[in-house]
Amino acid sequence: MKDYFRNLWAGIVTTWVGMRLTLRYLIKPSVTLRYPEERPVIPAGYRGIHGYDEEKCSVCKSCAAACPVDCITIEQLGRGKDAMVMRFEVDYSRCLFCDLCTIPCPTQCIWLSERYDLAGYTREECRIDFARPKSPEEIAAHEELLRKKEEEKKAKAAAAAAAKAKKEAETKAAAEASAPQAGDAPTRDGAA
Ligand code: SF4
Ligand code: SF4
Repeated sequence: MKDYFRNLWAGIVTTWVGMRLTLRYLIKPSVTLRYPEERPVIPAGYRGIHGYDEEKCSVCKSCAAACPVDCITIEQLGRGKDAMVMRFEVDYSRCLFCDLCTIPCPTQCIWLSERYDLAGYTREECRIDFARPKSPEEIAAHEELLRKKEEEKKAKAAAAAAAKAKKEAETKAAAEASAPQAGDAPTRDGAA
């Protein structure tokens, strides 16, 4: 009988202790968020998923060269100022978020942003291609532009080579015309 009441009292006390703790946390401000409806405040300097401005990118590939784990893949159509970015992919299954890729960028068109939600089920989902998708018409137009520029370049090179050859021929002809001939009359000091 005595044990019965002792156990009953122990049950009441332990329930009260547990409920007191529950009540205390019930009135305290919450430390969790209803993600994804609620989002955390990201501190300044956070290194998240890259930001990329394709319009400013010169496709110099300095960022890819600086990456210590080779996780940036860049593909382009054309070269130099005429390059069009076809693929600018970062493999986040390897990225260290070290920020080394942003330092050598001459146009500051790549940076580490505050984006952090990179959940996925496969490794493929860890790859993000930041390049703007191009339509077949846009690609064809760019290829045509490249072809025209290449033709212009070749025409200019051919014109420059022809001008150079002409100048060399004129110089040679002038030198031959001014050179003394075998039948020329000797000068006063006897030289031919
Ligand atoms: S943050 Fe570091 S690891 Fe990630 S892409 Fe840039 S250089 Fe490579
Ligand atoms: S370093 Fe900058 S400009 Fe050069 S390819 Fe990378 S993002 Fe583009």
